[in-house]
Amino acid sequence: MKKIVIIGGGIAGLSAGCYAKMNDFDAHIYEMHNLPGGLCTSWKRRGYTFDICIQWLMGTSPDSPYHKIWQELESLKNKYVYYNEKPWKVFLKGQVIDFYNDPDRLASSLKEIAPEDSKIIDELSECVKKFYQINQISLTKPNEFLTLFDMIKMMKEFIPLMKFVKKYSKISIDKFTDLITNPNLKRAFKYMKLSTSIEDFIAIPFILSTRKSGFPKGGSLPFAKSIEQRLVQLGGEIHYGKKIKKVLVVNNKATGILLEDGSEIEADIVISAADGYHTIFQLLDGQYMSKKIKHIYNTELLAPSLLQVSIGINSELSSEKGFVEYLYELENPIVIEGKNKKCLLIRNYSFDPSFAPQGKSTLTVTFPSDYSYWEKIYSDKEKYHQEKNNVEKGVLFALEKVIPEIRGKIEVVDVATPVTLNRYTNNWNGAITGFARPYFLNIPRTLPKLKKFYMTGQWIGNTGLADAAKSGRDCLEVICKKEKKEFITTKL
Ligand SMILES: Cc1cc2nc3c(=O)[nH]c(=O)nc-3n(C[C@H](O)[C@H](O)[C@H](O)COP(=O)(O)OP(=O)(O)OC[C@H]3O[C@@H](n4cnc5c(N)ncnc54)[C@H](O)[C@@H]3O)c2cc1C
Repeated sequence: MKKIVIIGGGIAGLSAGCYAKMNDFDAHIYEMHNLPGGLCTSWKRRGYTFDICIQWLMGTSPDSPYHKIWQELESLKNKYVYYNEKPWKVFLKGQVIDFYNDPDRLASSLKEIAPEDSKIIDELSECVKKFYQINQISLTKPNEFLTLFDMIKMMKEFIPLMKFVKKYSKISIDKFTDLITNPNLKRAFKYMKLSTSIEDFIAIPFILSTRKSGFPKGGSLPFAKSIEQRLVQLGGEIHYGKKIKKVLVVNNKATGILLEDGSEIEADIVISAADGYHTIFQLLDGQYMSKKIKHIYNTELLAPSLLQVSIGINSELSSEKGFVEYLYELENPIVIEGKNKKCLLIRNYSFDPSFAPQGKSTLTVTFPSDYSYWEKIYSDKEKYHQEKNNVEKGVLFALEKVIPEIRGKIEVVDVATPVTLNRYTNNWNGAITGFARPYFLNIPRTLPKLKKFYMTGQWIGNTGLADAAKSGRDCLEVICKKEKKEFITTKL
């Protein structure tokens, strides 16, 4: 039995491990952290669960092309999934605006608020419809296996949508917002930039369409643990607290890994499911690179990082059913990272009782964040903690203004910065989803001249959990072909 060693136990690494076992490889994952999931994680403080990842999980519904992968990985087995038809709720001074994920309902509700903007609202609704179509395109094969016939079929489906993606990916949220005349709707769009993290207008219809996807009960870490359980059931192994220092290479062939503790692990095949920059430039010392890869890493914009304030409240707060992002306009701006913030993005997990002890509630407040700001002050621990304290004070002050019933009931506060994110997952500059615009990058899975080595996960162009899982699956399909094995996807 050939041995595959996988670097990293995030969703892509776990998925690669499961498919490796389904195909009779000896699969070993080495993960530097003591938990599975990578970015798909949460942590506990005094009984409260603070989640950083899942808001929407593509593939929860059986009509999604990704559903099959979650079934194969048994990640949703016996799991209740929450849905909400209004993924965004914007609280403005004097008005509350709901954003529905159903495009027709979205259009009619926004037109009631801003009839003067009917044309632009119809355009938004059309964009959401187009994204529903894009999300339905079946992406079952790895790119390497697409035949001419597949390409033609896909092109037929994609071409009308490509024109649309091209047009709207050139428009920023601010530019789109300028076209709106109703002052409240204009401000609501401005604030939604906070939760898309991306400046492009196209992120808004994308999020609205994907938010038909659900939220699995328990959130991120239990979700990752269910895939870890599948791996173990299949006979795979995950080794925690094992940081990889180098990929071992002999005559341009990957032969194993060197751990930080100095031990060497031999392998027939090595897969890196870790951060792309770390893999190419540190684990392999930049020895295996093409002009294309170099260009991408030198020039492509990264997704922003994240600053998260998590709060445990000794009171039962009400919430919508299912995951909703609440955007609250502030009377007075607060200063975060030296910039004025006029709005708070709040996540209220009260819909899922597993997030807090009975009678209590968990909230998070998040901001897209600049890694370099926090990296600069991190070396001065006192300054770093002082800055975290400032963030905590500013956020709690603003939060008590918009949700006054929490006053005097805050039990726990935890601030995670982009440096925290990088420290726990090794993601380059704390980027939450790798490259900001990965869609047409087509980053190769292998590196030039390096045999028996593959990459998987969000840094080869697939962002989000469903794509990370698909990336692990695709990687094994490619390996099976290379090893002249039939690719098998389920083994109970
Ligand atoms: C704030 C936030 C919100 C998000 N929201 C959503 C959402 O709602 N829906 C969605 O679909 N996606 C969401 N995502 C994106 C999603 O979490 C990621 O795209 C996905 O988890 C990436 O998985 P991965 O396995 O490719 O990478 P990672 O999760 O980064 O896994 C890489 C793993 O490799 C390990 N590793 C790295 N270097 C080494 C080393 N040298 N030795 C050993 N181990 C190593 C790391 O510890 C980590 O466990 C969100 C991400 C963030 C941060």
